[in-house]
Amino acid sequence: MPDQPFSLDQLRIVLIGTSHPGNIGAVARAMKNMGLADLALVAPRCEVQTSESISRASGADALLVGSSLHESLDDAVADATLVVGASARSRTLPWPMISPRQLGAALPAELSRPEARVALVFGREDAGLTNAELQRCHRHVHIPTNTEFSSLNLAAAVQVLSYECRLAWLDAGDTAPARQTAMAKGTAPAGEAPFGEAPFGVEWDNPPASHADLERYFAHLERVLVAIGFHDPERPRQLMARLRRLYLRARPDSLEISILRGILTAIEKHTGRR
Ligand code: SAH
Repeated sequence: MPDQPFSLDQLRIVLIGTSHPGNIGAVARAMKNMGLADLALVAPRCEVQTSESISRASGADALLVGSSLHESLDDAVADATLVVGASARSRTLPWPMISPRQLGAALPAELSRPEARVALVFGREDAGLTNAELQRCHRHVHIPTNTEFSSLNLAAAVQVLSYECRLAWLDAGDTAPARQTAMAKGTAPAGEAPFGEAPFGVEWDNPPASHADLERYFAHLERVLVAIGFHDPERPRQLMARLRRLYLRARPDSLEISILRGILTAIEKHTGRR
């Protein structure tokens, strides 16, 4: 394999509230076929290792054994620097949407730091992802299916997205020398740009904020907005969802998040509510 600018081990597949062991097994198989290994299960509604899941894994049962179990989405993606929610349906509050191919194209830049992690989040077989879960994601990815029959089987959706990631990974190995030259010259093609304005892969000065950093910031922001009387949790009017969308779209880095938190702390001191 030529020099790879990122590793498929930096990708995590997160399944929320899965109810069929067979689907978890089929996801493990799809992942192993594509060279992915990091499987995280959030509050599964079934046993993980059953005869059905092991049979559907068809030899990929090591991924079932090695999967991590989490009580919450936040816990499963705490260290992730990019969180992408896979959704079959559009939502009332539109979120920045990407195609599976755009997801692949962004990976070399998103994962250029070895500690960077991209999490792909999948929903329940019967009800998908909730709005609250999708609002914890930087981007939504939609597999362009038949609009009259848009929902894929869970493992089929994982297969399609893992395949795009693998293609991007193979392609990145082939084109690594050319890309390094193009980035050095500032002529990298648009498809190589990471999401948002922050070009984390291209000699950006600070690492991206992690999901946990961002969630601590959102919790702090909400406390301060309530304290200064700007936000009434009894009448939320999607304020926090809209603010989340703004910040997640902008992709703040870790230093920017510390500055924003410092501002909140200064407001708290100033208003004497600390
Ligand atoms: N009935 C659910 C869909 C469940 S399919 C609903 O109405 O939302 C299980 C999961 O597979 C979804 O939550 C989503 O993560 C993924 N998925 C299925 N079809 C998809 C598509 N066309 N694009 C992106 N993700 C999809």
